Amino acid sequence: MGEMIYVPTTLEEALQIRKETGARPLAGGSDIMVQGKRGIGLCPELPYSVMIISGLDELKGITASEDGSVTIGALATPSEIASSSIVPWHVRKAASGMGAIALRNTATIGGNIGNASPKGDLPQPLILLDAYLVLASERGERTISVDDFIIGAKKTALMDDEIIKSVVIPHSSFTYSYYRKIGMRRANAISKLSLSAAMTVQNGEITDFRASSGAAGPKVIRSRSAEDIIRGRKIDEIPSLKEDFLSAWNDAISPHAMPEYRRHTTRRMLEYFLDEISRGAEPGIIGEE
Ligand SMILES: Cc1cc2nc3c(=O)[nH]c(=O)nc-3n(C[C@H](O)[C@H](O)[C@H](O)COP(=O)(O)OP(=O)(O)OC[C@H]3O[C@@H](n4cnc5c(N)ncnc54)[C@H](O)[C@@H]3O)c2cc1C
Repeated sequence: MGEMIYVPTTLEEALQIRKETGARPLAGGSDIMVQGKRGIGLCPELPYSVMIISGLDELKGITASEDGSVTIGALATPSEIASSSIVPWHVRKAASGMGAIALRNTATIGGNIGNASPKGDLPQPLILLDAYLVLASERGERTISVDDFIIGAKKTALMDDEIIKSVVIPHSSFTYSYYRKIGMRRANAISKLSLSAAMTVQNGEITDFRASSGAAGPKVIRSRSAEDIIRGRKIDEIPSLKEDFLSAWNDAISPHAMPEYRRHTTRRMLEYFLDEISRGAEPGIIGEE
């Protein structure tokens, strides 16, 4: 077998290996090793070369910038993200609900995005927050929104010589926030429907409104045209706009052939968020137990 395992110690070295060999980055390995599993007591076997990137300092850490954006290194684990006070609430919430504790200490945000599983937990709040990636290669760096990077189930815009370096979340400040994940466990199949929503209100006017849904289709669903029905309007107009919004949201998800119960649950969650606000909910998190 010609497959190799590389262990670069700097990003520069990693980018060179990536360009020359096309070896795939292996961060926490929690997706890759499962794909290569052969049986109890046997080492996983992969049909491609990998490079273990977990030692690359350039991909670590969580930092805040002066413009209010937050940069999360590709190697940050769900545990690090969940316990960071500078990471926006929706992302912390999603990270804290990922798998069991061992997985939360091993998995990485770069792997969660790089894997592009429709069931991945982090892309959904990241897309809500208009987060983007910094992709590094020997040619330099480029940025791309998480929404554009994830093309579909297991399909990304990553080029053969690129590595995800970091995830940048622009500044946002919401009056109301909502996050919910509903897990349904059947034998080995774990499917989870998740929804994030956020609204900013200034002097009764809705200056920002967003919603995104995960595990509902091949990729995260966000409909900016549906959001526009609510954005820019007055808070007391919500009851009269709600049906139009929900039907536009439904149209946005219809190409994804979502099972009826998922469609219904997503709708119920969005309706709940909007109803609570129009009933005069206190600013903050809606629906937190
Ligand atoms: C028992 C179990 C439970 C799980 N539960 C959950 C869950 O609740 N929620 C959830 O979202 N996921 C879950 N997962 C899936 C998995 O743990 C996550 O997707 C995780 O974030 C993957 O990160 P990793 O670093 O381990 O990825 P890896 O396996 O190292 O990599 C995954 C993919 O991303 C690519 N990649 C990794 N890092 C980079 C990078 N820096 N640049 C470019 N490409 C990169 C790899 O080449 C590979 O294609 C679970 C997995 C297991 C085994």
